Amino acid sequence: MDIIGDVKRNITSLEKLKDALDQIDSDNVDLEMFKKYTIERSIADYNQKLEKMTYKKFPHRCELCQQWIEELEPEQKSIMICQTCRVNLPKTMTTNEIEPLWGLHVGKIKQDIDNHLLDDFIDAGLIWKSGRYWLIHELVMQKHYERKLGYKRGS
Ligand SMILES: [Zn+2]
Repeated sequence: MDIIGDVKRNITSLEKLKDALDQIDSDNVDLEMFKKYTIERSIADYNQKLEKMTYKKFPHRCELCQQWIEELEPEQKSIMICQTCRVNLPKTMTTNEIEPLWGLHVGKIKQDIDNHLLDDFIDAGLIWKSGRYWLIHELVMQKHYERKLGYKRGS
């Protein structure tokens, strides 16, 4: 029994029915209500069902952000991390590493933190303290030091 195929066929036939009804030029309120509340709702329900069934087939979630990972890679991995998290993780550096990259003098970020210039970024979780080091996400450099103050990242 092909349940997913059945659901797909149901969606297709409902969409055909809706198209056919759309062709009828009528001011009939009942017909409009039928289209909106019966047909469109059924299509939405079936689509939701289809989505759930597809997830069952690919039950992989990013272990960091808990998002479903849609594209299934052929080999099973013991730790699944999504592309977005993979791209974002290495963008966090210590102040010592990131300051020379952006042409800031050593200690500048620490000084700005002490002067409460970066409180919004700390609140947003883009700057945090780990032991005696401050960790800075690259977005802070782009939004604050580049766009606001004109620093540029060197190569
Ligand atoms: Zn993720």
